[in-house]
Amino acid sequence: MKQKKVLYAGKAKTVYRTDTKGKLIVEFRDDITAFDGGKKDVLKNKWSYNAEVSSFFFSYLEENGVRTHFVKMLDERHMVVHELRMIPLEVIVRNLAAGSIVRNYPFKEGTKLEPPVIVIDYKDDSRHDPMLNDDLIVALKIATPRELAKIKKVALEINRLLFKLLAAQGITLVDFKIEFGRKGKTICLGDEISMDSMRLWDKKTGESLDKDVYRFNKGDVMATYNRVAARITKTRKK
Ligand code: 5GP
Repeated sequence: MKQKKVLYAGKAKTVYRTDTKGKLIVEFRDDITAFDGGKKDVLKNKWSYNAEVSSFFFSYLEENGVRTHFVKMLDERHMVVHELRMIPLEVIVRNLAAGSIVRNYPFKEGTKLEPPVIVIDYKDDSRHDPMLNDDLIVALKIATPRELAKIKKVALEINRLLFKLLAAQGITLVDFKIEFGRKGKTICLGDEISMDSMRLWDKKTGESLDKDVYRFNKGDVMATYNRVAARITKTRKK
């Protein structure tokens, strides 16, 4: 498979067209950003941790019946994916209160959310990703009520699977953000799932093992990503 023109360059990944119809190549980069791009840096080798963890999670989810865009890794840095028509939603699943819901609502950090809370934001940097509700999503014609119900169901199933997998390594899945797209009429998981898009706490110590280390200068980001990537991928190595 040959890499062709850049289709889209995001904040941490570049997506390329290929010589194969319906397939794209995602390249993981070393860029890291937070606070709507207000804080940015380049961290050497960051790509390798995000690529490794993302491909690991996508394979695990596929094996457990979740439809994703993942096809295979071309090499350690490049992921071959099915081309999706992306749906501009950031679907966030929360098991414990942290981050923006603690800032915006009267939750105490660490409060268990049972059942998990789904929050859906409009993916639009120029509007600072405002929170949506079901009526707005349908009124904006972003998704039909049926698609929305499917997206929520799949998001909760992904949460169940990831929560279980991470718990086996002593990691609490606090929350995560995922994005979906359409392949024909099928809703598939797209984008990435990595430490950049999740909140992970060490079960014993409560230590942050994710991008909050970068956001809030809590320590050595790459050392954290290195350790947590090894712990995550070990969950299934014999
Ligand atoms: P919060 O709403 O608390 O800022 O974020 C909730 C969860 O979704 C966190 O795990 C956070 O990393 C993830 N998240 C929210 N917005 C974004 C985003 O624009 N990009 C990425 N990569 N993750 C996000």
